[in-house]
Amino acid sequence: MAQDIAQVCYVCKSPELAISIKSVGPLCAGCFIGVVERRVKKDVRLDHPFKKGERILAIDDSSTKSRVMLSLLDRCLGGLPIKLEIKKEDIVSITSKDIEGFSKVLLPLSADDQAEGFLSWLLGDDREDGHKDSQIQIIPFLACLLEEEIEAYAKAKCIKSSSKDPSPLRKDLLQFESRYPGLIHGLLKGANGFKDASQRR
Ligand SMILES: [Zn+2]
Repeated sequence: MAQDIAQVCYVCKSPELAISIKSVGPLCAGCFIGVVERRVKKDVRLDHPFKKGERILAIDDSSTKSRVMLSLLDRCLGGLPIKLEIKKEDIVSITSKDIEGFSKVLLPLSADDQAEGFLSWLLGDDREDGHKDSQIQIIPFLACLLEEEIEAYAKAKCIKSSSKDPSPLRKDLLQFESRYPGLIHGLLKGANGFKDASQRR
C-alpha cells in the first residue's frame, strides 16, 4: 500500500507531511501554503488583473471559503492600493444595487461550486445569470481550488472552519471526482470553453 512507504514533502523533502491530497501530492504545511497562494495569485491575476485605485467588493458569507479568500487577498494584491469593501452577505442575496459602482466583485466560490453551477445549468436548472450585461467583473476567487484543498489550507493556516451540508448534486460530483480525479477541473475547462465559444457567436 502506498501509505506504508515513508513519504516526504516533494518540494523541500521534509518528512513532516501535513497534506496528502491526490490533487497536490505529499506536502509539508509550509510548502502546501506556498503552493495554494501561488496558484490563486496566478489564477486571479491572469484573468482579472487588479488596477491601482479600483473599487473592489469582497463578499463575506461567513464560510471557511470567505475567510480563506480574505486571507489570500492581500497576497494577490501585492501591495497595490485599491479601495476594498467587505460586505457580510450570502451570495444568493446579493442584488445589483449591492455591487453598483464597483469594478470587481470577489465571491468565495471554489472549483467545486463552479463545476456544480455549470452542471446544474447543463441539467436544465434555469438559474438566472443576472449580471451578465454589466461591466462589473464577478470573480469566483477560489475557482482554481478544490474544496478539500481550501479546507486543508484553512487547517494549515489555523483559519476557523465551518462546513455546510453538501447538496445532492454536490455529493454526486464529489463521488465522481474521487473516482475520476481531475473531473472537476476538466468540467470547468469545458465550461470556460463553452462560455468563450458562445460569446464569439
Ligand atoms: Zn515542504
